[in-house]
Amino acid sequence: MLVLVVNAGSSSLKCQLIQTDGKQSLMKALAERVGTPDASMKVAFAPDMEWRPVPVPEGADVPGCLSILLDRMESDPASPIRSVEQIQAIGNRVVAGGEYFTESVLIDEDGLQKIDECSTLAPLHNPAAVACIRLLQERLPDTPQTAVFDTAFHTTMPPKAYMYPLPMRYYTDLHIRRYGAHGTSHRYAAAQAARLLDRDIRDLGLITCHLGNGGSITAVNGGVSIDTTMGLTPLEGLMMGTRSGSIDPAIVTYVMRHDGIGFDEMESILNKESGILGVSGISGDMREVMAAADDGNELAQLAIDMYVFKVQKAIGSFYAIMRRTDAVVMTAGIGENSAELREKVFDGLAHMGMILDKEKNKVVGEIGVNRIVSVDDSPIAICIVTTDEEMRIARETDAICEAQAKG
Ligand code: ADP
Repeated sequence: MLVLVVNAGSSSLKCQLIQTDGKQSLMKALAERVGTPDASMKVAFAPDMEWRPVPVPEGADVPGCLSILLDRMESDPASPIRSVEQIQAIGNRVVAGGEYFTESVLIDEDGLQKIDECSTLAPLHNPAAVACIRLLQERLPDTPQTAVFDTAFHTTMPPKAYMYPLPMRYYTDLHIRRYGAHGTSHRYAAAQAARLLDRDIRDLGLITCHLGNGGSITAVNGGVSIDTTMGLTPLEGLMMGTRSGSIDPAIVTYVMRHDGIGFDEMESILNKESGILGVSGISGDMREVMAAADDGNELAQLAIDMYVFKVQKAIGSFYAIMRRTDAVVMTAGIGENSAELREKVFDGLAHMGMILDKEKNKVVGEIGVNRIVSVDDSPIAICIVTTDEEMRIARETDAICEAQAKG
């Protein structure tokens, strides 16, 4: 099935055209800094997949960029399709599904309204997704669209994990609770780890670590999420590229009073100026910060030490709440690619029975190939699962459409 995957953010748009039968990507597009004077967009078509610039007119918003991309897919001689009518289904990544959505769905009007209602939970992402879905409904009215939610996998968490110790009215009136994120990634990492271990996922206790620009860790018991580090929003939990992760909430009011700043500025500091960037003062990108630490930069080293410490604490706390832990699974940019960081994390966790094989860990894995990097007799296995969010969304969309066709 030919599936267009749309991943819309507040100021970015990532799209891929995927042939699910051959698991092949035929087109990739990326728009960044949309809505600013520095807006840019690029597209790449198979087989060479070389980036080509796409002009973005002044004032274009995220759905506007999507519309330009659809035109380009029809007009560029390098495009593998002549008409967007050839697209058989569209898979939309949706950040917040609230308590409404426990799984991916085929989008109808009622579903779209609910996604819109969840905008209060993801004010930067859900409105952009809704606008893109509406644009695609107008342009391709007969093409089915699905919504694949970041939160759906975590709807199995029990109340003791998802409730915050606040006055109950904040839950009943404002729906403030832990929703988590990166759900499709944690679900996939857990399923792939079960395959690697050749075990039934229902019998396994897994701790899945999605360590990319954003980062979250999930306790997956018998295939279901029982707790995760991200909360009402993706700001809670681990230290991330530019997000603070969990801090003493009193710091927020202290800084706002002291610096006389408002909500928006404070939110921006916590989301965009903190984390690895905030501490190192160099970058939120782990590779750059590691390079600076290698050159002797002490703040870069401190940022890495803090990052590792927080990952270790989260793994340890989930170990404590699981009945059993069979494997820790590492995925996303840092988790998959950085042997150095994995070594630092597991150096501190051997006493819990997570024993890394340092040689296996150093071998650079083939793209798309999952592997086990713990020693053979490690009580708890350490797995690496390579992730491709767009491919997962495409395959899920394919499965939903097929189930629908079968009735
Ligand atoms: P996103 O959350 O945007 O999808 P990714 O999963 O691509 O992000 O992760 C990006 C992060 O992974 C960046 O901090 C990047 O520096 C880091 N990363 C990628 N490769 C390596 C590597 N070999 N060593 C260390 N960090 C890496």
